[in-house]
Amino acid sequence: MIELKTPIPGPKSISLMERRKTAVARGPFHTTPIFADKAEGVWVTDVDGNRLLDFSSGIGVVNVGHAPPRVVKAAQNQLGKFIHTSFNVIAYESYIEVCEKLNTAMPGSFVKKSFLANSGAEAVENAIKIARAYTGRQAVVCFQHAYHGRTYMAMSLTAKAKPYKYGFAPFNSEVYRSPFPYPYRWPTTSQPEIVADECFLEFKTLVNSEIGLSQVAAVIIEPVLGEGGFIPAPKRFLEQLRKFCDENKIVLIFDEVQCGFGRTGTLFACEQLGVTPDLLVSAKGIAAGLPLSAVTGKSEIMDAPSEGGIGGTYCGNPVACSAALSVFEEWEKGYLKTNTQIVEKVLKDTTEKWLKTFPLIGDARGLGPMRAIEFVIDRDSKIPHPDAVKKIIKGAYERGLILMSAGTFGNVIRFLPPLCINEKELRLGLEIVEEEIRKV
Ligand code: PMP
Repeated sequence: MIELKTPIPGPKSISLMERRKTAVARGPFHTTPIFADKAEGVWVTDVDGNRLLDFSSGIGVVNVGHAPPRVVKAAQNQLGKFIHTSFNVIAYESYIEVCEKLNTAMPGSFVKKSFLANSGAEAVENAIKIARAYTGRQAVVCFQHAYHGRTYMAMSLTAKAKPYKYGFAPFNSEVYRSPFPYPYRWPTTSQPEIVADECFLEFKTLVNSEIGLSQVAAVIIEPVLGEGGFIPAPKRFLEQLRKFCDENKIVLIFDEVQCGFGRTGTLFACEQLGVTPDLLVSAKGIAAGLPLSAVTGKSEIMDAPSEGGIGGTYCGNPVACSAALSVFEEWEKGYLKTNTQIVEKVLKDTTEKWLKTFPLIGDARGLGPMRAIEFVIDRDSKIPHPDAVKKIIKGAYERGLILMSAGTFGNVIRFLPPLCINEKELRLGLEIVEEEIRKV
């Protein structure tokens, strides 16, 4: 049980929410009705003094925990030196160091270079620009259930209409969407290998019949869907894409904004899947909450845009770069990697046990500690059950546990605790989830 000082939301949060309604545009959503005061490790203290256990990590960002002392110190140090010069005006070493770290961390024996930006969407935009500049082609193939961000190109690549795209048309042209190998909802079978083959056939048909092979600049895929509901693409599918892109000189982009930076137990998910993209997009966990993102990839592709072709005032901010370097240090120390194995085991065992126990849960899946459960009205119809998810999330935060939903149908609960969480804290949170599932 988590001891709370007030009902959730407490009076101060309620009053701030009223002010928010008046002062802030309606658009930004809220998973919980509370306002933060401070956060440390896996715990967030709200303005009413309630300590809540965080299974969201600020949408998969604080993978190394909230405000780890090493990261805070590095950022403070940099703040004391200079906050901003713009890498385009007066460069600084930490930008180069982050790129060097990324180049070493990305799998693949080829020579690599990196480019830094501020958000996941911005990095996605740049990856597409780089691929187009390199190939001299225009078409981009993306996938169903994908999420790539909210700027126009990233939104055009994103699958889900409501709320992400609704009312914002027209979208960017030369974006084509192919099915994602989603075994649980694949119409003919749920066997990943067969799903992969059938899905790849549909991909090839799309390319050949609707686009034309020589027109495709890039294929962009999340190796594990994030917002789409934590669905790992079968290895076989990624291997087929890799071969196809090689044969046809198409740039293969992996968007690891959500599944990267340790979320699946390795720094990048592609390390485990054994398929290396040409360009790798990272963000979220890279700087423990400071805005930073990156495109890393084959040197000759990364160098395709001419000087001044990519960049931006804040890209690779020095405070964010300092934080990122200490995030790398945290991972290099090894303890987090060991801990992710415990997180994976507990989450996998628990969610698989629930799959056997609760008919409301149709699927339990993930890669490493990046795990989720999908709720259905009943297992035969597989009709999505988003109301169950809403009730569980509300029930959980009222008891001091922050959870997040996912999935095209909003019927998935994804587990995104900071990866420094200990077993006791993890089990405490999962007990609350289990009790809330029982209530539904
Ligand atoms: N790609 C993926 C896979 C994501 O999960 C997200 C964010 N949820 C983005 C891109 C966009 O990142 P940002 O919100 O930082 O723009």
